[in-house]
Amino acid sequence: MKYYSLNKQAPDSSFENAVRIGLAPDRGLYFPQHITPLDEDFFEKLDELSNSEIAFKAIQQFIGEEIPSDDLKQIIEDTLNFDFPIVDIEEGISTLELFHGPTMAFKDVGARFMARCLGYFNRNNDAEVTVLVATSGDTGGAVASGFLGVKGVRVVILYPSGKVSDVQEKQLTTLGQNITALEVDGTFDDCQDMVKKAFLDVDLTSQLELTSANSINVARWLPQMFYFMFAYKQLKALDKPIVFSVPSGNFGNICAGMVAQKLGFPIEHFIASNNVNNVVTRFLETNTYDPQPSIQTISNAMDVGNPSNFIRIQALHDYDLNKLKTNLSSYSFTDDETKTALETIYSNSGYIADPHGAVGYLGAKAHLTNHSNSQVVFLETAHPTKFLDVVEDVISKKIELPPQIQAVIDQQKHATFVKNYEEFKSFMLKF
Ligand SMILES: *Cc1c(COP(=O)(O)O)cnc(C)c1O
Repeated sequence: MKYYSLNKQAPDSSFENAVRIGLAPDRGLYFPQHITPLDEDFFEKLDELSNSEIAFKAIQQFIGEEIPSDDLKQIIEDTLNFDFPIVDIEEGISTLELFHGPTMAFKDVGARFMARCLGYFNRNNDAEVTVLVATSGDTGGAVASGFLGVKGVRVVILYPSGKVSDVQEKQLTTLGQNITALEVDGTFDDCQDMVKKAFLDVDLTSQLELTSANSINVARWLPQMFYFMFAYKQLKALDKPIVFSVPSGNFGNICAGMVAQKLGFPIEHFIASNNVNNVVTRFLETNTYDPQPSIQTISNAMDVGNPSNFIRIQALHDYDLNKLKTNLSSYSFTDDETKTALETIYSNSGYIADPHGAVGYLGAKAHLTNHSNSQVVFLETAHPTKFLDVVEDVISKKIELPPQIQAVIDQQKHATFVKNYEEFKSFMLKF
């Protein structure tokens, strides 16, 4: 499969090259040249296929010959070795739990898939790739865990000091080996800016082969389409229109869902559920794309002022606002509304959501007010214990820590504090 840059000023790329460099040389995001719907036979046999078989059939065309089938199957098996259950919440609303992986956030799948692809491409050489990643919370932990010990890869994670939860911080600062954490005096946007600047800095790029593990990277982004397929398989017997409410930050997850739809999965509609970082909600209302500095919220993995994957969503809808609006709605909710939702979900159904899932639930509720025959699935993108303070406070109950979280919480944090780009750069030059 060839990928083209959405800025259209760079040569087409192989999958391997797109994974290695992340962003195209013209700073555009890579996008597959073709998306060919899966054949009818696939959909007829869906019930008989395992998750790994579905995933293999779905992603093979995006990789082509670059990874032989048997190796790709193995990569998928290793990536997907946990469950993706649907839980019913109330009439018309279910949740898809995406937090059963090692770091209990949905980013585990993308990070594990990307790490294994890079590991495959590095199998016979001594080249060293440096993965630079900015995190607003969960990406860092998932990337740290997914890339730990992968041959030929070093990972540098930048996170905003004091703006990630304790569990998140421990997950990205305690692993050691090929994983290094930098604690940045600033916001997530500052971290993201430093990463972007580093990619353009010849002093660094002449010394280090840099790539990114944010959802701009096709190997991080595309495997997220599997979730929508696994959910559809579990819900198709209901025979109702299926709508996904996706708690969105950089819009990678929801955009991957739209790729699943292009592949032929009968998804009725998408809802981008946002906290007050609502550039897309406003865009759909006003047709003006007006990025703003990010605002800190209790659903911090969605504190993104300028979502990097929105351009891919526009490309999928031919940059046509009306077309987009028939497929995508977006709602924005405050922290107070989110806390009330957490409480309501818990008191009505006994289910403990996390703040991101609660925002997704609110989006589902909003949609159901005038589409009452739909089944809306909100994605539970993180386990509630990753946001322990908020969740315990709202539901007035202690939650037990799952073993994955217990294992990191008592570990010693190792991070280097960096004040600005210059300090970051000199760290990297000595790295
Ligand atoms: C990253 C993340 C999101 C947002 O996903 P995008 O693909 O960036 O839109 C939502 N919830 C949680 C818990 C996350 O970690």
